[in-house]
Amino acid sequence: MENIINRLYKKYYLYAIKNNILEVPEFIEYREFGYGKKNKVDNRNISFKNEKEYKSWILNIVPYHIYKSLAIMRYPSNSGGADKKGVIRREIAFDLDIKKTKRCNHDDNWICKYCLEEGKKQTLYLIEEFLFPDFGFDEEDIKIVFSGNRGYHIYLSPKNENIKEIIEHYSKDERRFLTSYILGENLTLKNVGFGWRRRIAKKLKEKGIIKNEKKFLNNKNLESIIKKYKETTQNKIYKTIEELKSIELDKKVMEDDIRLLRVINSLHGYTGFIVKELTYKELKTFNPLKDAIFEEFENIFFDVDIVDNKKFSIEINGKKYTNKSKKLTASALLFLYGHNIKFNIHT
Ligand SMILES: [Zn+2]
Repeated sequence: MENIINRLYKKYYLYAIKNNILEVPEFIEYREFGYGKKNKVDNRNISFKNEKEYKSWILNIVPYHIYKSLAIMRYPSNSGGADKKGVIRREIAFDLDIKKTKRCNHDDNWICKYCLEEGKKQTLYLIEEFLFPDFGFDEEDIKIVFSGNRGYHIYLSPKNENIKEIIEHYSKDERRFLTSYILGENLTLKNVGFGWRRRIAKKLKEKGIIKNEKKFLNNKNLESIIKKYKETTQNKIYKTIEELKSIELDKKVMEDDIRLLRVINSLHGYTGFIVKELTYKELKTFNPLKDAIFEEFENIFFDVDIVDNKKFSIEINGKKYTNKSKKLTASALLFLYGHNIKFNIHT
């Protein structure tokens, strides 16, 4: 079994390397790498002299999960914290780590169209409500990457070199401020900045809770405005504000100086899906269950006996698989393998 899985991962990496789509992080000799086979990060503190060494290592080890450091550091293979590694600068990336939704009818580690939709919705919210209007970035300043499971990584990569230089030297506290702002942690309704006023007013209008958003846009003291509404409306307003703050942003990813993040266009070892980079336009119509599949895997079939007691259902590339399935594509095989479903392959 392990041989078959390994062969499939290797097939993908050969393709990704040959077609130059596998991410080769900038300043590769100053990056730390980590990888896992069955588990996520079993090994880290790995570094390479150059691109060639990195690529041949991948084809040799065939990792099921591959990560690179966001930071560029003097001693990437030293173990220990940021001091031991000599961090020079660090990329800024948001990690949206999506849990299952109320509509999901599956275990925590499974996926379905509802949680996948939620991930996309929150990513668009982060981009359209914060990164574009409040932070002043545009499509070309950000890099959107599907994590290969439910989440997304959004990198800030401003085309303006000066801005890039500044943000990549941000301290931990400065980076923490970015996530605090987005999560509305410092929001005081007596004194609300324009970005949040705009967001709140827009949502309240959209939901039909208020008719005229001008009051909300023109006065910093939202508390005094909200107080004038009757109690039921006030409650709806407060509830809406809380909803606007409930984005599933992983704060630790932003804070950690030596954080590793998945290599772009690698495969995710739990799903076998591609950790895919998307343009803003592509994101809008992106369906991971179709668009993050390695096409060649759809032409490889396995006859199997699924011997797991767990009842499941998953639709990959328009084909539905359950615990009664007898034939799997390589995509489905990798997904089930990554989710610890027990099956035997007929060879
Ligand atoms: Zn779900």
